[in-house]
Amino acid sequence: MRYLASLRAKYMKLMNGRYGMDKLNRDMLILWLVIGFLNNFIGSKVLMLVGLLFPLLALLRMFSTAVYKRSNENRKYSELKKKFVDWVKLSVRKFKERKTHKYYKCKNCSAYIRVKRKPGEHTVDCPKCGKEIKVKIRAVKEPKVKVSSKK
Ligand SMILES: [Zn+2]
Repeated sequence: MRYLASLRAKYMKLMNGRYGMDKLNRDMLILWLVIGFLNNFIGSKVLMLVGLLFPLLALLRMFSTAVYKRSNENRKYSELKKKFVDWVKLSVRKFKERKTHKYYKCKNCSAYIRVKRKPGEHTVDCPKCGKEIKVKIRAVKEPKVKVSSKK
């Protein structure tokens, strides 16, 4: 136990004033593993080298003493990741509901508004800011069936 305690003390001394681990580092390590796994099938040396940049960068960030800069990077990364995840979720939802609903973006507050696909002109209130929005939904055209005659 004394050995572990001294190891821990050494580690604490080493990491003193250094940035340490964060979500950006964690995701870069995950990305490295994913690239490594995929490269089992691809077998590209370039991809392997590119993949190695991620753990190196994560290591540099971990031992960095510019704590404020690193935490700013992490915050920006988290914001971008959230935007991307939200966009993916919305796209999936739009696709799933493409036959029953349409999505509009409020020009006032940029919130998304879900409107039932009922042909005609409608006025809807933005659920976030309450602004009235006029939407026009065209009737869904039935796809034309090509009739080909075989001779
Ligand atoms: Zn709005």
